[in-house]
Amino acid sequence: MAEKYNICLDIGGTKVLGAIFDSNDTIVCRYKKKSTESGSSSQNVQEVIVSVVEELLASSGIKKNQINAISAGAPGIIDQANGIIVFTPNLPFRNYDIRTPLEEKFGVPFYIGNDVNVGVLGEYHYGAAKGYQNVVGFFVGTGMGGGLILNGSLFTGTGFKAAEYGHLILDPEGPLCGCGQRGCLEAFSSKQGISSYIRQQVSRGRESMMAEHVKEGVFRSKYLKKALANHDTVTEEAVDRACHYLAIGAGNLINTISPDVVIFGGGVVEATGNLIRDKVLAEIDRYCMPSIRSTVELKTAALGDDSNIYGSLAMIKDAEASAKKTSAGKAAAKKTAAKAAVKKTAEKAAAKKDAAKAAVKKNAGKTAAKKDAGKTTAKKASAKSTAK
Ligand SMILES: [Zn+2]
Repeated sequence: MAEKYNICLDIGGTKVLGAIFDSNDTIVCRYKKKSTESGSSSQNVQEVIVSVVEELLASSGIKKNQINAISAGAPGIIDQANGIIVFTPNLPFRNYDIRTPLEEKFGVPFYIGNDVNVGVLGEYHYGAAKGYQNVVGFFVGTGMGGGLILNGSLFTGTGFKAAEYGHLILDPEGPLCGCGQRGCLEAFSSKQGISSYIRQQVSRGRESMMAEHVKEGVFRSKYLKKALANHDTVTEEAVDRACHYLAIGAGNLINTISPDVVIFGGGVVEATGNLIRDKVLAEIDRYCMPSIRSTVELKTAALGDDSNIYGSLAMIKDAEASAKKTSAGKAAAKKTAAKAAVKKTAEKAAAKKDAAKAAVKKNAGKTAAKKDAGKTTAKKASAKSTAK
């Protein structure tokens, strides 16, 4: 059989990353492209996605009929079952069916899921959570994303909205979060949370190497790395605060789920190595039940920027495995149904036999009864005649 390839995409607010995997799950080609210009429509972004796939094919020399499937992770609420981007924060898609046009264009199945869910799935199949069954993942980036693997399967909840750990409310009187609530984990521990703490301190007259980088919006991870390497006090405080709340959030989830492992990933974690994991580890015992704490490990994600494209590959494998299971299940169901039909026929036959027997008995009974009745009549008649 000719080699088949999977194309995996990471659709982000600023760029679309793409990779081609061969049948050994090795990346043979990569390509990335800016996803949005100002005023981009859904159609524009869809064209970018199509062009990334076409560019990957062109530069690798792989033909359209050699593709097995295409898969992608994207931010926001994704209807994984129907391939619909319900809502996504930094892209123009709203209730947008992205599956149909891509399947029509390339003639292969197209899968899509929430980027952090997909990232955790990637870590579960190919990264730091490989070999575990229950996995909680925190991804620290501009926002704070979450993912959950339960008993070896990605858990997405009703309407594919589960694992929004970024909006665990840890202080109802805390800083305002992008979601409108106060004191969410994201408002403390994401790039937004860290940036706003630094901004606040700078506005109070303190000095920080990060002042320039948080002036408008959030910093880029490489500047955080630099500031920490230079022991910038305000930056260290901001990261300590972020890790303190991350430890509380992780502790709550550990007590709720009792996972085998908690994974920390995302841009901030990637830029700072094991720093985030180690700082959370130093505090986590305070927020966990000792018995539950004793069976959980805390790890740094292993796939970095590639967690999403590996997760997309995992999504293809999961979909194919469940399709196989379904068809095997259907075959087994057919067999069971056939057996049941045979049993039913046998039962019917037996029931008929019984009915026939019962009828014979009944007839015999009737005959006997008639006979008895005849006797009685005769007796009655004789009695009558005797009385006369
Ligand atoms: Zn929130």
